[in-house]
Amino acid sequence: MFSSTDDASRALVLFSGGQDSTTCLAWALERFAQVETIGFDYGQRHRIEMDVRQETLREMRAAFQQWRDTLGEDHVVDLAVLGQISETALTRDVAIAYEQNGVPNTFVPGRNLLFLTFAATVAYRRGLNVLVGGMCETDFSGYPDCRDNTMKAMQVALSLGLDQKLRVETPLMWIDKADTWALGESLGGATLTNLVIEHTHTCYNGVRETLHTWGYGCGECPACALRKAGFEKWRS
Ligand code: ZN
Repeated sequence: MFSSTDDASRALVLFSGGQDSTTCLAWALERFAQVETIGFDYGQRHRIEMDVRQETLREMRAAFQQWRDTLGEDHVVDLAVLGQISETALTRDVAIAYEQNGVPNTFVPGRNLLFLTFAATVAYRRGLNVLVGGMCETDFSGYPDCRDNTMKAMQVALSLGLDQKLRVETPLMWIDKADTWALGESLGGATLTNLVIEHTHTCYNGVRETLHTWGYGCGECPACALRKAGFEKWRS
């Protein structure tokens, strides 16, 4: 992790419009001279995710003058093909459940490997040399394509395959959700915390009717439960 501005590095942040990737975006904006964002449209069950990410980017630009010049282009990549090669709750209208191995059925096998590869291609074209993602080993779900070793292997594979050093940074890898809230506040103060609460979207069920202290969501799905518990732990 870097502790001061890194002028030689230009970052592409994998940005979904959720709490984690918004925190990662703020983390990158604090460090790098140039930051761009990338999102993947893969026929998510709830269009809200794609709408919210644009709204969150607008709010980031409006609320943080110091980051406005650093925050550059947003790239949206159409990965509708993912819907053709996966049968999960994210792309089909089935209830969220846990498989016998403890992995939720929202899991698209190897999804982050695909995302990182597409991101690396865009980063190369844009002259960006760092990929930043909200992958985390501490989370409940333990997606194997979010693990630290997987990220390190991808960093090596992408750097070799592009014949250019590409760093993969994952600032949330070893922290829990309470610490993610704390990290956000340390980067952007109460303004960023409120932005995360009011604008980001994490709920698997796409619920945005009620604004809770921790944000919008059904409050019941694994993503809401994690976000809510983390918020309460952080505030206690
Ligand atoms: Zn939910």
